[in-house]
Amino acid sequence: MADPKGFITTPRENPGRRPVFLRLQDWREVYEDFATERTQRQAGRCMDCGIPFCHQGCPLGNLIPEWNNLVWQTDWLAAIERLHATNNFPEFTGTLCPAPCETACVVGINGDPVSIKRVEISIIDRAWDEGWVTPQVPVALTGKTVAVVGSGPAGLAAAQQLTRAGHSVTVLERADAIGGLLRYGIPEFKMEKWRLDRRLDQMRAEGTSFKTNVNVGVDIKATELRTSYDAVVLAGGATAWRDLPIPGRSLKGVHQAMEYLPPANRVARGDLATSPINASGKHVVVIGGGDTGADCVGTAHRQGAASVTQLEIMPRPPEVRSDAHPWPTYPMIYRVSSAHEEGGDRIYSVSTVEFKGDADGNVQSLQLVDVKMDGGKFVPVDGTEREIPAQLVTLAMGFVGPQQEGLLNDLGVAYDPRGNVARDESFATNVDGVFVAGDMGRGQSLIVWAIAEGRSAAAGVDAYLMGRDVLPAPIAPTDRPIA
Ligand SMILES: Cc1cc2nc3c(=O)[nH]c(=O)nc-3n(C[C@H](O)[C@H](O)[C@H](O)COP(=O)(O)OP(=O)(O)OC[C@H]3O[C@@H](n4cnc5c(N)ncnc54)[C@H](O)[C@@H]3O)c2cc1C
Repeated sequence: MADPKGFITTPRENPGRRPVFLRLQDWREVYEDFATERTQRQAGRCMDCGIPFCHQGCPLGNLIPEWNNLVWQTDWLAAIERLHATNNFPEFTGTLCPAPCETACVVGINGDPVSIKRVEISIIDRAWDEGWVTPQVPVALTGKTVAVVGSGPAGLAAAQQLTRAGHSVTVLERADAIGGLLRYGIPEFKMEKWRLDRRLDQMRAEGTSFKTNVNVGVDIKATELRTSYDAVVLAGGATAWRDLPIPGRSLKGVHQAMEYLPPANRVARGDLATSPINASGKHVVVIGGGDTGADCVGTAHRQGAASVTQLEIMPRPPEVRSDAHPWPTYPMIYRVSSAHEEGGDRIYSVSTVEFKGDADGNVQSLQLVDVKMDGGKFVPVDGTEREIPAQLVTLAMGFVGPQQEGLLNDLGVAYDPRGNVARDESFATNVDGVFVAGDMGRGQSLIVWAIAEGRSAAAGVDAYLMGRDVLPAPIAPTDRPIA
């Protein structure tokens, strides 16, 4: 156990965020530095419970009490070994994960949970600084080849596991850079891309090969893909976005979030001088109250929007857990992300009825109405119709699943009832030698699930190719968040 009285004597602490007026002038991560001793005291709050529910909360099964204890004892080298034992990329989860481990922490039953995510990022940052993160080159090659389609966290985790197991792995990515949503979806202020780049350098040194600008299904046909490699991992994400087919949808200035965020990320990366979809001086409305919406909000603030309003059809969640989400589930509660702290309004229980434009076809406003639940569906509340200004609208209403036309249909993979690629308990699809991991099989989810699925799919591929059972498989395809 870490500090035997830590959970009683030490209050929960996390690093502060940089002042809003400063951070809006750059794209850098929002958090301030946090002294090592403070991280150690936070790790010391871990009770090393008999049944560590944080394990269950974490899809990766991270050995959280073990590395909390090691950090408390200042054995950072052993801590990173325990952390890397279950998580290929703690820097991605340490910056981006909503931390279901923390909402499952036993200290959280009647107090503030351990700052697990803070301890995680401190361990991996320290490990990189100390030079402890080195290429893990395989001891022997198997002579087997694997193609990984898509380079998001699921594809990268599968590729790293399979390369280290001795297979020759090629990651094929249709974008011009590796990383999936880590690269072009998630803004720098949540995770700076040097974290991704140095991990990719490690993977290249281990022997993983990367090819960008390859649209699999177009540039390499499905049959060629299958015959050119001994196994294939599909990790193309859930890229089919949900739309809002209401009057005025085709007006200029109404964009999908994933049309708006990638060029902004290119500006932050220095590839573009300005974004072709820019919020500067505009009244911005973001439709959708989730993470993607919050990323649009933070991006619009940094581009100098005149105002930013985020709309959500669901009612405002409660401030604390309701009985519907008891411990240790991940609760729906009112959260204030860094982007929300930076300004703007959030309006709940509203639906957009129409976009209205000027004579040149540019969106100028949108018409709203309050909604309430009635008979299991949202119905408008009479007399609440109103108009708000909007010269830029981003649709952040989630994704309906993977893109089926092209590669997936050509391969002949089966789908589950939700339209995701169906798989068995080893993450194999119905097509021999073809596996699936991440959002493409799971549906829109989280980075931590993508990494966990990538690891599990790699175990399935290795067993398929070699007839052995050596790689860890943290989850089964049917595992769902504790919710
Ligand atoms: C804006 C935004 C913000 C988010 N923020 C968070 C967050 O803060 N925390 C969190 O946990 N989760 C977040 N998520 C969710 C998270 O990013 C995803 O769950 C995760 O990235 C899924 O990983 P993946 O590897 O399955 O797919 P992706 O990351 O989507 O990667 C799939 C890759 O496959 C490529 N691809 C697709 N088809 C082909 C093809 N035919 N040929 C070649 N390449 C192909 C795509 O170009 C893409 O690069 C966010 C999602 C979005 C959209």
